[in-house]
Amino acid sequence: MVRIERDITPFKLYEEKLKKLAKYDFLTGVYNRRAFFQRAESELARSKRLQEKVGIIVIDIDDFKKINDNYGHEAGDKVLREFAGVLKNMCRKYDFVARFGGEEFVIFLSKVDENMAVKIAERIREDVEKRMFHLSRKNIEIKLTASFGVAVLEEEDNYSVEKIIQRADEALYRAKNSGKNKTVFLQ
Ligand code: GH3
Ligand code: MG
Ligand code: MG
Repeated sequence: MVRIERDITPFKLYEEKLKKLAKYDFLTGVYNRRAFFQRAESELARSKRLQEKVGIIVIDIDDFKKINDNYGHEAGDKVLREFAGVLKNMCRKYDFVARFGGEEFVIFLSKVDENMAVKIAERIREDVEKRMFHLSRKNIEIKLTASFGVAVLEEEDNYSVEKIIQRADEALYRAKNSGKNKTVFLQ
């Protein structure tokens, strides 16, 4: 009998790589939309068990199109990566960030009430407002702002992630329509 042994390490590594690609946004490295919903759903089940509130912040960079128009798409990409890094650094240990597409990001907040959720959003908004963002290759720094829509889990949401996101989206819409660079909470 002949035994053939193979080193399966390369295949395992490849599998791991594919799993990672399926979960994270290729540009910024934060969760993609699908992975966000998966994790948010299990967090919501947990919050139900523990009777804790959770919150959602939807964030959209203001006038991002101008950055692309003025400095090019590659510079825009660099800004998106840096922006995602700021969100990751500014939220708490058990919160998580996703890119839903374009220049729109979402943060899941565990164990928050309305006041805390708004406080976190405002803290990030103020940091973004003060910060300089670096453009790739060119030695240029720019300033930018973003708008924030906040919602927390309400009884009528029935522990549905979509419901909370819908309200946070509506809040974001109001933030955009009332002058941008602000945080709006919607109950
Ligand atoms: P508002 O303040 O209303 O949000 O305006 P805005 O310009 O930020 O929003 P708008 O939706 O008009 O434009 C978004 C732009 O984002 C247009 C699109 O080309 C750009 N964009 C979307 N995805 C990417 C990306 O992956 N990389 C880069 N560089 N740009 C992107
Ligand atoms: Mg925008
Ligand atoms: Mg947008």
